[in-house]
Amino acid sequence: LFARETTFLKGVVAMDGMPPDDRIEVCFAGRSNVGKSSLINALTGRKALARASNTPGRTQEINYFCAGEDSHYLVDLPGYGFANAPLPVVEKWQRLLKNYLSGRATLRRAFVLIDTRHGVKKVDHEIMSLLDRSAVAFQVVMTKTDKVKVSERDKTLNQIRKELQKHPAAYPEIVMTSSEKGLGIETLRSIISTLI
Ligand code: GDP
Repeated sequence: LFARETTFLKGVVAMDGMPPDDRIEVCFAGRSNVGKSSLINALTGRKALARASNTPGRTQEINYFCAGEDSHYLVDLPGYGFANAPLPVVEKWQRLLKNYLSGRATLRRAFVLIDTRHGVKKVDHEIMSLLDRSAVAFQVVMTKTDKVKVSERDKTLNQIRKELQKHPAAYPEIVMTSSEKGLGIETLRSIISTLI
């Protein structure tokens, strides 16, 4: 899957800008600073690939990457929880996100990233509920596990497990990763490979 180079395709700001839905895709969601760019970079083996999507102006776009022989799509959703954004901006991207999640037939799975230090926050709960309502199967990926002690990591793991019981669209398996140390990356790659 990731043998061939992954490339940035485009940033999308409205549904009519979506690439044709002619292939399977998976998407990545998470609060700002959760480690989403680092994870996509680690997955694809490209150091600065997703940095493009982190630059100001790009952060509220849905960013499409092409991966693998048949160019499956990896989709980087805008990071949520930017407290200082003006309300119309927040509302605009919430609309786009809702339309995307409910209207994209080729979306196979959403990966919801949770920072191991912080656990599930209100906005994470809300995104999971939106995924339930949109009938998009999702799976939680814990990020930055290298930053905490095993006891703290397991505390977060248990908190997430409890949270997932509230969500019919959730997969029970939780993937623990560290982009920094390369932990869990191969596991996540093989999960994605089975989907496409
Ligand atoms: P994004 O805003 O979700 O795309 O987050 P970034 O990937 O830009 O990461 C936010 C910050 O967390 C950066 O300073 C990263 O270097 C750091 N970071 C991301 N992943 C890891 C990780 O696995 N371990 C550690 N220690 N730091 C990480």
